[in-house]
This record gives sequence, structure tokens and C-alpha cells, in this order.
Amino acid sequence: MRNVLGAVIVITAGFIGPVSAQVQVDSALAAYIRTIKAIDNHAHPVSTDPRDQDFDALPIDGFPPFSMPARLRGGNPELIDGWREMFGYPYRDMSDAHLAELKALKARIYSEQGDRYPAWVLDRLGVDVQLANRMAMGPGIAAPRFRWVAFVDPLIFPVDTKRLETTPDRADLFPRTARNLARYLGDLKVKTVPPTLQGYLDLVVRPTLERMAAGGAVAVKYEAAYLRRLDFAPATFAEARAVYERFRAAGTPSPAVYKPLQDYLFRYIGIEAGRLKMAVHIHSADGAGGYFEASGADPILLESALSDPRLRQTNFVIVHGGWPHTRNTMSLFSRPNVYADFSFMGNQLSSHTLASVLREWLSEFPERILFGTDAYKDSDVVGWEEWGWLGATAGRRALGIALSGMMQDGEVTRERAQEIARMVLRENAAGLYRIR
Ligand SMILES: [Zn+2]
Repeated sequence: MRNVLGAVIVITAGFIGPVSAQVQVDSALAAYIRTIKAIDNHAHPVSTDPRDQDFDALPIDGFPPFSMPARLRGGNPELIDGWREMFGYPYRDMSDAHLAELKALKARIYSEQGDRYPAWVLDRLGVDVQLANRMAMGPGIAAPRFRWVAFVDPLIFPVDTKRLETTPDRADLFPRTARNLARYLGDLKVKTVPPTLQGYLDLVVRPTLERMAAGGAVAVKYEAAYLRRLDFAPATFAEARAVYERFRAAGTPSPAVYKPLQDYLFRYIGIEAGRLKMAVHIHSADGAGGYFEASGADPILLESALSDPRLRQTNFVIVHGGWPHTRNTMSLFSRPNVYADFSFMGNQLSSHTLASVLREWLSEFPERILFGTDAYKDSDVVGWEEWGWLGATAGRRALGIALSGMMQDGEVTRERAQEIARMVLRENAAGLYRIR
């Protein structure tokens, strides 16, 4: 299934634009891409605490049944290649007996490596540094190999969210958001949200962001597209204060009444994150779940917020590239503080499809594109290791296809193609997060 780099692979051109040319993957370029030690912009590594649940703020295991794209299903045969390469799995099938052997193989390496296990996984993925989307860091998940990306969604929902539970998925996620806010308050030894909005900003929001920065966070992350639309409009302090102070102790606002408070807090957090030298990551892509509001996750909805001059000192990353609205992502790159990663896209899309997206992006803004895996734990058999391996392998393959096409069409020299590969896999992120 997985193409052997080094062979010449003939692939018909992408889904966007005229399907005419064929791209021959340049074997030397593909080999070069494999040698680059990457910075993974987005992942959910699991710590070596056997009870670890901190690898996501809003896990989706409470959602009603929904459909997953083919490559994201546990039966994806590409996973076998990952097991073979990472763990020495000797089989080419997924029989129950063989999977039991796989679990034993993994358990042996896990116990041999101890707290080094997460870094051992990164070595298998060709990843030098991985950004860890977690509620908190944990054993085995530490700098310099792992850098923290902390969740900030709880901070924009300080009053009752009952009327925001507009779908079965959101009915599952909002109580989790409230528990996460309570945890953040506990981290600050604050018992309850303060009576005034100014007090909330001074005693909860800003100190929480400062705690994250002091804890080594290089970015903060919004999964907000699971909870609301990404149209964070301008809102005044007075508008936000009216909502906060009316509903802080009792009552529950309607979505329309609540929105200015969330909008105000989003921009306040953005300004503060910039001051603290943390980027702002925003999930923008189709998400999991049978009720996900795809129209609310389009990155172009961020246009108003990203055009706020007060946020120009803050760097933003469109996580998951805005898929499938990847051209809207491109439109946002005219702002010098906007980046995008292709995490998750390498898992969800064929390399062929992802290569088409990358080629469009790289032809215009190669300095804004970041590699990412979205490594995530599904089960003991298919964990963050396997999804990380698939994202890293397929992402590199897609990058090789895109750059080979650009070389063959005379758009870039071989030297420039290699330089762009280094930028995408490592140097753009190194500059953005000051990783040396
Ligand atoms: Zn993720």
C-alpha cells in the first residue's frame, strides 16, 4: 500500500484544475524529504501515565454514532505498514490472533522504554519536536521533544451554556467545557467566576494564559468549531459585560445573547496570547460527529477577527488547513500573521488529493505552510503512534508529489524544492515558535 520512496511512482494529476499532466515523483527529492527531522505542528501524544486522559479537551467518544472517512477507519490496511515499520509486526493482515501478538509487541517496547516511550515514537515518525495539544503535559511528554499547546475554549464560556446545546454532540461537549473551566479555576485556586467581567479578565483569563506561557506553551488552541461558528465579530467591553454580569450567577443566555461575550473574549485572549508570545491555533475543517456544523468551520469566517488591527501582533494557525475550504485559507494568507497546517489532512485524504492542495498553497505562500500529523489515540491497537505514523508518512508523500510536479513544470529548481521541503517540515515552525 505504502509506496516505497526511491521508486518512480506515476500519479495522475489532482482533483483541482484540469486533469491532464502526470506527476513522476522525483525519487531523490522523496529520499531527501524522508531525511528531514520534522516539527509536527499538531498532535495529541499520550503520556506514560496509564490513566492519561489529558490528550484532548473535548474527546468525541460520547457522540452518537457517525461515519468516518475510509482511511480513518480501524480497518485501513495502511496501518499494517505502520505496525511493521514501528513495532516489527511480522504479518500482513489484521486477524484477531495477530492483533493480540501486536498488543504484546507494543507492550514489550512500552515497558522497555518507560518514560522515554513517547520520544521513541517520535523517532519512528521522523519527528524531532511535536506540539502536544493537551490539557496539561504529563510524564514522558516534556520539552525539548514536546511543546505544549493549551486549550482555551473553556475561557470563552464563563456563564451557563445550557441553551448552546443545540445538537446531541454539543450536549455532550458543553458539560466537558464547563468541567475544563472549573479545572482551570482550580489551577488558579479561584473558587468561582468573579462577579464582574473585569474581575474575570484580571483573576481568571489573563492569569490562566500567563500560567500556560509559564508552563512552556508555544500556542493556545481553539476547538471552538465544535461548539459554535467561527464568526468572532467585534464586540465592546460594555456589550460583553452586560451578558456576563446578568448571567454569571443565574439564568442561561440564548445563543444570540451569549455570542457578544464569547466574541469579546476571543479577541481579548488573542491580544493577550500575542503579548505572551503564544500563537493561536484554530481547528478549521470538517470535524468528527454526525452533527458537526461544517458551514461554521470555514476559515473565511475568521476574516473579521483576523482583520482586527489589535490582533496583528498575534500569529494564527489554521489547523487542518480549513479543509475542504483550502482556497479560503489561501485568501487569509495576505495577512502576514496567518499560517496553516495540514495535520489530519494526511490521514483523511489520499496523498494525491493532499498534494493538489499543497501545490496550490506552495505556489503562493510556501513560508506559511506547516507539517502536522494530528496523532490521536483511538484504541490500544490504533493509537496516537499509528495515526501519527500515517499522517507523517502520507504527509511527506504528498509533499513529494507536489514539489516533484512543481520541479517538472519548471516552477522551482531542485534546490528550491528542497528548501521548500525544509521550510514546510521544519523551518517555518521553528521560526514561528522560536524553536532552535
Ligand atoms: Zn487534533
